Amino acid sequence: MPEALPDLLRADGVLFDLDGVLTPTAEVHMRAWKVVFDDVFERWNITPPYSDADYFDYVDGKKRYDGVASLLHSRNVEVPWGAVDDAPEAETVCGIGNRKNAAFATALRSEGIAPFPGSLALIEKLTAAGVPIGVVSSSKNAEEVLTAAGIRHFFPVVVDGTVAERDGLASKPAADMFAAGAAALGVDPARSVAVEDATSGAASAAAAGYATVVGVDRGTGADALRAAGATVVVTDLDVFLTAGAPDSDTTRSDSDSEETA
Ligand SMILES: [Mg+2]
Repeated sequence: MPEALPDLLRADGVLFDLDGVLTPTAEVHMRAWKVVFDDVFERWNITPPYSDADYFDYVDGKKRYDGVASLLHSRNVEVPWGAVDDAPEAETVCGIGNRKNAAFATALRSEGIAPFPGSLALIEKLTAAGVPIGVVSSSKNAEEVLTAAGIRHFFPVVVDGTVAERDGLASKPAADMFAAGAAALGVDPARSVAVEDATSGAASAAAAGYATVVGVDRGTGADALRAAGATVVVTDLDVFLTAGAPDSDTTRSDSDSEETA
C-alpha cells in the first residue's frame, strides 16, 4: 500500500538503531559464532556439525550465553554455566560466549564492516542539513562497530549496551533506551524520528513517544514492525534520499500516491 514518507529533514532529531539499520552486523556475528562452534564441535566430537540453520534455530536473537546453552542442549551436551568474567579459554557456557565476543572483535578488526550504502548516504544528508543524529543500540560492541564502519564521527550521542548497564536502562522494548537517546541528544521525542529493524526496538521508540518510528524491514516483516509500533516501513533507507529534498516534487505535497520502495 503506498504511503507518504515522513520528511526526516524536518525532525528535531533522528535516532538510529545500529545492527541491521546502519551496518549488516549480523553477518559478522554469524561468522564469529561459526569459528567458535566449529572448533568446539570438532574437539568434542559433537555431531551433527554446526550449521547456519543452528544459528537461526538456537542462537539468533538470544542473549549470548543463552544461545550457547541452547545450541549445546540441542546436541545433548551440557557444560557448566560458569561466570561472566570467565576467560575466553574456559570450557563453560560463559567462556564459549566470551570466546565468540573475542572472535567478533577480531573479525571486525581484520575484515572491517561497511555500512549499508543507503544508510551512509542518509546520515551524510542529515548531517549536511544540520539535523542532530544519534545511535541507540543494545549492543556492547556499538563503539567498535561504528568505528570499524568509519561512521563513529557522525554521532555525538551513542546510547549503547555499555551506557545502558552503567545507567540502569531497561532493555528494548522498554522505553528507556530510546528515551535516553533523545534526552542525550537534547531533542523532544514527540518531534523526532526513530529508525529500527527489530520489533523490540520499534516498540521501545513507540513507548518513548517518538512522532515517527521508521521500521527497516531486513527480514523481520512489515506487519510485525507495524504491530510493534512502526509508523512507516521501508526496506532500505535510500528511499529517504530523494524524499524531503528541497526540489523534490513530493515535498509537503498533499499527494497520497507517493512512491514506495
Ligand atoms: Mg537492529
